[in-house]
Amino acid sequence: MLNSRYFASKLIRANLKLLFVFFLFSYASLIFCHLSYCFPSHEDSQKYKKLRYKMVNQQIAARDIYNQKVLQAMRDVPRHLFVPERRKKSAYGDFPLPIGYGQTISQPYIVALMTDLLKPEKDDIALEVGTGSGYQAAVLSKIVKKIYTVEIITPLGKAAEKRVNELGYKNITVRIGDGYFGWEQYAPFDCIIVTAASDHIPPPLVKQLKNGGKMAIPIGKPFQVQRLMVVEKSEKGEIRIKNILPVRFVPLRRIQR
Ligand code: SAH
Repeated sequence: MLNSRYFASKLIRANLKLLFVFFLFSYASLIFCHLSYCFPSHEDSQKYKKLRYKMVNQQIAARDIYNQKVLQAMRDVPRHLFVPERRKKSAYGDFPLPIGYGQTISQPYIVALMTDLLKPEKDDIALEVGTGSGYQAAVLSKIVKKIYTVEIITPLGKAAEKRVNELGYKNITVRIGDGYFGWEQYAPFDCIIVTAASDHIPPPLVKQLKNGGKMAIPIGKPFQVQRLMVVEKSEKGEIRIKNILPVRFVPLRRIQR
């Protein structure tokens, strides 16, 4: 009798211990799940890195971009952090994506091509018209010394400025305004990249291009197929225009003065 009571109490104590361990384990795994939700795991960023390298191999290097500086910049900039949260999974697809306010982040290949066409060098000062998400500026900033970028839609420009600052791109300065007029204060520029389509080449931008400099710009009517052009200014200041390929960009807007 005494023995069976003794064993019963031992059994209860053992079960209580088991129950305690079980609850402790469940509690710990709950905390772990919560933490991994709040802080995306290392594996998560590894997943995007893999997608990014694949994007460069299949969409860019496999086409006609051989400039190692451009390929490396495209590998380095985390494109998924420049698109709206719900678009993250498609960030490395071979297409443009909406970024809000009716605007788009260009297809990765077009970003790489336009960057390559500028033949950017490490001491260059660049101007971008059409900051959008800040992605193109981030890619170019990996190669040049400094990039000034102008955005006409205030909330887009402010968000891009915050994003590039948080991601540590120290050589990008964003301004809200009409980029048609360039950025006189910091001109002339070695490279100018316009990421919205204009029906003509803005004369203020040609003026702000340094001798020996290059500008990449889509030219054509809004919502139609446009031509990607490269405007080259020779060392003597002569202008030469090259027609590269058909593209589709959002229109370059104008602020009525
Ligand atoms: N380069 C951007 C995408 C550009 S989309 C990126 O990497 O995400 C084109 C951008 O040009 C839009 O954000 C649009 O608001 C801006 N834009 C249009 N007209 C402009 C103008 N006149 N001056 C400055 N930005 C302009």
